[in-house]
Amino acid sequence: MASIFSRIVAGEIPSWKVAEDADFYAFLDINPLAEGHTLVIPKKEVDYIFDLDPETYAGLWQFAARVAAAVRAAVPCKRVGVAVLGMEVPHAHIHLVPLQTEGDMDFRKEKKQLTPERFAQIASAIADAFNKQ
Ligand code: 5GP
Repeated sequence: MASIFSRIVAGEIPSWKVAEDADFYAFLDINPLAEGHTLVIPKKEVDYIFDLDPETYAGLWQFAARVAAAVRAAVPCKRVGVAVLGMEVPHAHIHLVPLQTEGDMDFRKEKKQLTPERFAQIASAIADAFNKQ
C-alpha cells in the first residue's frame, strides 16, 4: 500500500504544498513544532533515508537546502533546524524547523495548533519565497 506521503504527492490526500519538482515535494507538517515546520520528501517511496539511491539522496538534500532558504525568508527565525526521524511515516523525509531556540527542535513537546487559514498563509509565503529563487 502506498505511504501517506505518496498519497499526498498523488493528490489523494490534501497538503499545504510549499515546493515541488519532478523528483521531490515539500509541504507543511500537519503537527508542527513551529510555524513553517516543513517536510521534504522524494517522490520515490523508500522508507529509510539511507536506503535511497545516491542520486536521489543527494538530490533530496539539495532540494531541502533550497526549501530551507525559502522557509528562512518567509518565517521569522534565527535559522532553520534539520532532523530526520522517520519513527511514524515509513517514507523518507527531512524535517525543516524554523528555530528561535534549541528547544524548538524538541519533538516531544506539544505541537502547535494552527488554523487552516494560517497553514495556507504560511505555505503561500514559503512557496512565494521558493519561486523567487
Ligand atoms: P516521523 O516519521 O519523522 O517520526 O514523523 C512524521 C511527521 O509527519 C510528523 O511530524 C507528523 O506530524 C507528520 N505527518 C504525519 N501524517 C501527516 C499527514 O498526513 N500530513 C502532513 N502534512 N504531515 C503528516
